[in-house]
Amino acid sequence: MSPLQNWFRPEVLKMKGYTPGEQPKDPKTLKLNTNENPYAPPSAVLKAVRRAAGAQLRLYPEPTAETLRKRLSKVYRWPLEGILVGNGSDEILSILFRACVGKGDLTQYPDLTYSLYPVLGEIEGARLKEVKLDSSFGLDLGKLNPQARLTLLGYPNPPVGNCFPLEDIEAFCRKARGLVLIDEAYVDFARMNCLALAKRHPNVIVLRTLSKSFSLAGARLGLAFGHPRVMGQLYKVKDSYNVNRLTQALGLAAFSPAGIQAAGAKVSRIKKERERLGRSLRALGFTVPQSQANFLLAFWKGKPDAQNLYKKLKKNGVLIRYFSHPRLKDALRITVGKPEETNRLLAELVKLIR
Ligand code: PMP
Repeated sequence: MSPLQNWFRPEVLKMKGYTPGEQPKDPKTLKLNTNENPYAPPSAVLKAVRRAAGAQLRLYPEPTAETLRKRLSKVYRWPLEGILVGNGSDEILSILFRACVGKGDLTQYPDLTYSLYPVLGEIEGARLKEVKLDSSFGLDLGKLNPQARLTLLGYPNPPVGNCFPLEDIEAFCRKARGLVLIDEAYVDFARMNCLALAKRHPNVIVLRTLSKSFSLAGARLGLAFGHPRVMGQLYKVKDSYNVNRLTQALGLAAFSPAGIQAAGAKVSRIKKERERLGRSLRALGFTVPQSQANFLLAFWKGKPDAQNLYKKLKKNGVLIRYFSHPRLKDALRITVGKPEETNRLLAELVKLIR
């Protein structure tokens, strides 16, 4: 018998773990695989980190990032006790699963969504239910089980980037007995958001990140908005000092009027480029469903097939994402970059599919 069985829980031994998108070593690689923002963070944010990178680093950070949360409370008009910040939104998801999902508890999410959810469920020994999206990637919310302990929905939902109708989501939240986590990692690129739902329904938590619209994936800062009594339970589970000093300082600068304005300007450029990339890919013969995120899922039925296209692009220095999911075998997920990056991607694609 392997000693690992004496050392680890069976749930952990059984699971494969999450595979993050590749981080290429070659700086010349055109990196369109993990939905990062192509633009640099605003200079005010970088200055704030430099200021914070001093002797005060010998001190622990504020345990609940109160200064940053006070700023967020003003910006989002949300009660201070209803806001939790984390080391990326991934950490908040992990806190949520630990606090909420016990062995055998039903946890549900669409069959196509953020692939971290099942991994976090496996760690806790949850009973996992995938709810199949229809052929146009819509979700019949009637198929969700209102008895589930935890329901997770992306708004917009990856890897397509579509948004399920707000009225349908709200109708489900009203009848759900468990918590509903609405993952709004990409919502700043979308037309609407679900914050009002979390105001109206105490079982709803909205999750945000600074990794995408604020160009701060490397800083690791996630935000969650919910009912103060609900968030109070998550506070008991989080690490004491889960967000470091540098990240708290840059978060504060990101949510200054100048920081918000700078991020907004880049979001507008990315949304414009998303439309151009979509049009160009369709003109090349790809089928590209509408996306409200900073990425597109492009289906390709020609030669070479999608997986080989991904591999050949990679060889030529252009990294996009290919998923080994049966529903995505003909699909490539492409992060929206700067106009010149779109041009390079399209030029490489044209060479390969001609
Ligand atoms: N939710 C979704 C839907 C995502 O795609 C990602 C990024 N991979 C995250 C959450 C995590 O983002 P972060 O931990 O960088 O905040």
